[in-house]
Parts: sequence; C-alpha cells; structure tokens
Amino acid sequence: MRHIAIIGSGPAGYYTAEAATKQWGDDIRVDVFDRLPVPYGLIRTGVAPDHQTIKAVSLRYEKTALTENVRFVGNIAIGDDISLAELQALYDAVIIATGAPHDRDLGIPGADLPGVIGSAAFVGWYNGHPNFTELHPDLSGRRAVVIGNGNVALDIARILSKTRREFEGSDIVAHALDAIAASRLDEIVILGRRGPHQIAMTPKELGELAELDRAAPYVDPDDLPPLSEDEPLEPGQRKSVQWLRQFAAKPSDKPLRITFDFYARPVRIIGSERVEGVEVERTQIIDGTLSGTGQTYMVPCHLVISAIGYRSAAIPGVPFDEKAGRFASDEGRISVSPETGGLYCVGWARRGPTGTIGTNKPDGFAIIAKLAEDIDSGAIGPESKAGRPGFDALAAERQLDIVTFRDWQKIEEAEIAAARSGAPREKFTLIEEMIRAGR
Ligand code: NAP
Repeated sequence: MRHIAIIGSGPAGYYTAEAATKQWGDDIRVDVFDRLPVPYGLIRTGVAPDHQTIKAVSLRYEKTALTENVRFVGNIAIGDDISLAELQALYDAVIIATGAPHDRDLGIPGADLPGVIGSAAFVGWYNGHPNFTELHPDLSGRRAVVIGNGNVALDIARILSKTRREFEGSDIVAHALDAIAASRLDEIVILGRRGPHQIAMTPKELGELAELDRAAPYVDPDDLPPLSEDEPLEPGQRKSVQWLRQFAAKPSDKPLRITFDFYARPVRIIGSERVEGVEVERTQIIDGTLSGTGQTYMVPCHLVISAIGYRSAAIPGVPFDEKAGRFASDEGRISVSPETGGLYCVGWARRGPTGTIGTNKPDGFAIIAKLAEDIDSGAIGPESKAGRPGFDALAAERQLDIVTFRDWQKIEEAEIAAARSGAPREKFTLIEEMIRAGR
C-alpha cells in the first residue's frame, strides 16, 4: 500500500487524487488536507458566485472524495498543526496543491493606502472566504478602478455592477450582496497597461458585460487598432477583440459605465488618509514592446482593486521561484529520494496562475504519472511509510480537530438549508460556524 498526502483540496488537489485512484486502484490511500474546514478551494472561494455552471465541477470532486481510498482532512494547516517534514516522514509522496493565494505586488507608491484592495481579498470577500469576511470594502464612492486586463478584473467589474435581481441563482454571500446592492458607483474603470490586442479576457466573459441590467461597457474607438490588424490574432482573442469593437460602436446608455482604459499604466496611488485617485501614465506599444509616453493623468476614485495575477505561498525549506511566484520544480518534481519520498507540486503551485479550472485535470494526471515513474524506478523507497494510520495516531496525540468529508456534508446541508430563495446555498463565513455545523 502506498500513501499520498495532497496539500490543498481545490481543483488541482482533487484531480490529482482522482488520477491516483485511477493509477493504483485499491493499492493507494490519498489524504487531501486543507487548512479550511470546507473543501474545493477556488471552486468555492475563487470562481465568481454568478458562474454556478463552473462551480458544478465540484460534483466530480465529491465523487472522488467519497471513494474509500480518498479522504478529506479539513481544518488542518500544514506548517502549524503538522510540519511538512512530519508529513514527508509519514507518506510516500507529498503533493503541494495550494494554488496561488496571494496577490502579485502592484509595486507603486501608495499601494498600501486604505481603499486599495488586492483581488484575492476582494474575490474572497464576495465568495465568503473566512479570511476576508471583515474586509468591509468602502463602496460609497462614485468611481472604482480595477487594475488589470484579465478575467479576474472582468469578474470583479461584473460583480460590482450587478443589481440584487441579477444575483438570483448565485451563491454570493449576504454581506457582499447587501453592500453591492447599496453601492453608489456610477463608473468602474478597468485599467490595462497594454492595448485591446493584449487583453487576457475571454470572449464569453466579455460578452456578459453586454447583458447587464444597470451597467454597460464603454471602449474609446480611438484605442482600437485598425480592423485589418485583428486578422493574425488567434480565434479566441479575435472574438474578444470583436466584443471590444462592439462596445466601442454602442456607447453606454446605462447609469453605471464600465470604462476600458487601455494603454494606461498606474504609476502612483494618490491619497492622504485613504485612496483618492490613481495617477496613470499613457503607454504605447512599439514593435511589440511596451513603453511609457511620459504623459500622465489622474483618475479620481474611492476604491482601487488590483487584479494583476497571483503568487503561491512559499513553504519554508521548499525551493521557491521568487520571480515567478511559484514553487521551483522540474515539471512538478521538487525532490525525490528513497528516504524522504517524493515532493511534488501541481496546478497553480506548479505552473503559476494560468489556465482554466479544467487545465488542472491534465496537470493532476501528469504529476501522478511522474510519481508512478519514481515509484517504479526505485527513486522512492519501498513500501514502509506509516501513512494514514500514522497520521491518525499523531493527530490523536496532538488532539487535532479534524473536519472529515462527512462533517463537510453536514456543513453543506446547513448551507443549503440557509439559502435565500432561488440561491443554491448561503455559505458560512466564519470557521467556528462551519465547524459547529459539521459536528
Ligand atoms: P491574468 O489573466 O494573468 O491577467 C493579469 C492582468 O494583469 C494582465 O492583463 C496583465 O497585463 C495585468 N498586469 C500584470 N501586472 C500588472 C501591473 N503591474 N500593472 C498593471 N497591469 C498588470 O490573471 P487573472 O485575471 O488574475 O486570472 C488568473 C487566471 O484565472 C487566468 O488564467 C484566468 O483566465 C483565469 N480565470 C478564468 C476565469 C473564467 O474562465 N471565467 C475567471 C477568472 C480567472 P499584461 O498582459 O500587460 O502583463
């Protein structure tokens, strides 16, 4: 019997667990650890609450979680409750699937002013992540600035601009629903440091902006390259740019405007007590290279949300690529030895914050193929690790308060029972509430 510990119960963690059961059947035990008492990582706290069809993939993870060989070990923080070295001593392989929970640094003066919020915190807040329940973003101003031209920036702009009615069927948490419904925004500016051809936004998500009740997107026609230059773009990107062309052709006629400001690089956040605006430099792209023009202007605003990508959380002693913000590995292999077993990373922890939820499936299967190679070649020692029973003994000794998958099912039942009309669930936003509901 081989024993695997996976740290992180998000998509990367569960696809890897699924791959392990397909690879070894009954000859494997997989323990999936999470510091939260609830599973599914980004599916629960990252994917937008109005994208329920994407969230439905959790049913696939549930199927894996309910197999005999896979076990959810919630409410256990590696590094606090048990060290990584202890885990490595117990399991043949430890696979880090902790994603990329920290925001990439804006790196400009004023970025630490109150009213400047990273997307990890803001998305966590509207999705009920217990770390961000107390964020209380100030939505009383007229203008918000979202920095970045990726899908997270789009999610944030869309969520900020929806009416209460438009959240029907979503699982946005009550505190965020109430705050957004009461907001007085009349403009959300999305700052992109490059141009329409360089956006990292996908067509489906852009198209959703055209369907909003109270808000409409706006693109300055002068920012668009000549139509003929769309030709070499790959089809998805061309579709995205077509949406921008449509937005430019149909000026906003709704009370809330979502303004795309291209060639706009934030250089400073202005404010004394809190954010009062963003100083932006006009940029240009010459021969594919971005440069500043030296021309600057102010975008007054009350709230800045930076959505410029994420970084993984380093683990002491584990090689980390500081520049890329992810674990340093050879395609997921961090270290392999007969004594300590294998240490691997998968998903965003391996490749950085790119791709869709589905990208984690081949990633999970690939890492299990590597682990299988390492077992077959003898790079990982013979079966001798204490595995699951060993962890249980240690947990009993330390009186660790583990939340099992059965406990999670009770939490989920309580969340479903508490849902407002038409919503799939009302999430608990405090760890103690979750644990109480699971008991
Ligand atoms: P992303 O796709 O990497 O986009 C980051 C954006 O931030 C880019 O436009 C980038 O511009 C910009 N940026 C980076 N550093 C900057 C700086 N210092 N100043 C100004 N702008 C800066 O990241 P993301 O939006 O966080 O998304 C992460 C991943 O999750 C992506 O793969 C995304 O597609 C996925 N996702 C998917 C969905 C969905 O499918 N519905 C929803 C959310 C997220 P440059 O290009 O100039 O660097």
